[in-house]
Amino acid sequence: MNQTTLTQNRTHHPVAGIHHITAVASHPRRNIAFYTGALGLRLVKKTVNFDDPSAYHLYYGDESGAPGSIVTFFYWPDYAGKGRIGSGQTTVLSFSAPAGSLDAWALRLSAKGITTQRIQRFGEDVLSLVDPDGIPVELVAVPTDERRGWSGAEVPADMALRGLHTAVLVVRDGKPTETLLTRDMGYRVVRKEGNRTRLEAGPGGSGRLADVISDPSAPQGTGGVGTIHHIAWRVGDDDEQQTMQARLTAAGFQVSSVRDRQYFRSIYYRERGGILFEIATDTPGFAVDEDPSTLGQALKLPPQFESARAEIERALPALA
Ligand code: ZN
Repeated sequence: MNQTTLTQNRTHHPVAGIHHITAVASHPRRNIAFYTGALGLRLVKKTVNFDDPSAYHLYYGDESGAPGSIVTFFYWPDYAGKGRIGSGQTTVLSFSAPAGSLDAWALRLSAKGITTQRIQRFGEDVLSLVDPDGIPVELVAVPTDERRGWSGAEVPADMALRGLHTAVLVVRDGKPTETLLTRDMGYRVVRKEGNRTRLEAGPGGSGRLADVISDPSAPQGTGGVGTIHHIAWRVGDDDEQQTMQARLTAAGFQVSSVRDRQYFRSIYYRERGGILFEIATDTPGFAVDEDPSTLGQALKLPPQFESARAEIERALPALA
């Protein structure tokens, strides 16, 4: 092993930022209209909830659904219960937008009847809004983000969202969450503003950030429609995931076995503040079962459900 390899091994940490965020919505059609029609993301995978194939699981992202660009939704009808946003949750879908694009975004969203609010945080310009189910969404103007947004829909390239920006984590006491992120997940603290601490992983920057908000008076969050279900952090491959599984287990966390999610493999654990964390692999990605040029168009089922395809398709609501 040469000196360069040794140095890389010492400084390398498997967790490289955000992989995806999964939330709960009520109506798939309304959800698609907002995330593709209004925000201009690409629907990169149409599949079912692997734990309940009677419901859709839709994935949105950039052109290829690159790790860090992905938001996904489970659909529970309204009567199944609205959740409450609060402590123990990831609370915001925060996207990176090109610098100087927020005025155009405000106009575009206003034309669609969506109200926005302009705020400043950590010196960043932020456009704040809510999705049709009440999930907070933020578009953050980022001057330095090499990622390219998808402009295949009606959003022009100079406005296209490039992926997730930061992970907003709300807990009553931020200390244990920050300790997990810094001691076991390779993050470091970079800024503080009020009760918000910003951390970053690897080379840092958009998509590799996490904001821990300590709010002792926040109501306890409850899962359901209009809330974020979990956040997944990315690692390159199965070996790196195994390293993290061992490290987190040694640190006292109850870590699940590896689950095959068809487009990535996942392990799950709950951090001390109550937020459900997942560690997902970058491999194999969304082109594993359909052509990159037609991602998201056909209903894709994992092998275990293929024999029940006709029944599953009959039970799913129409999307068109
Ligand atoms: Zn997930």
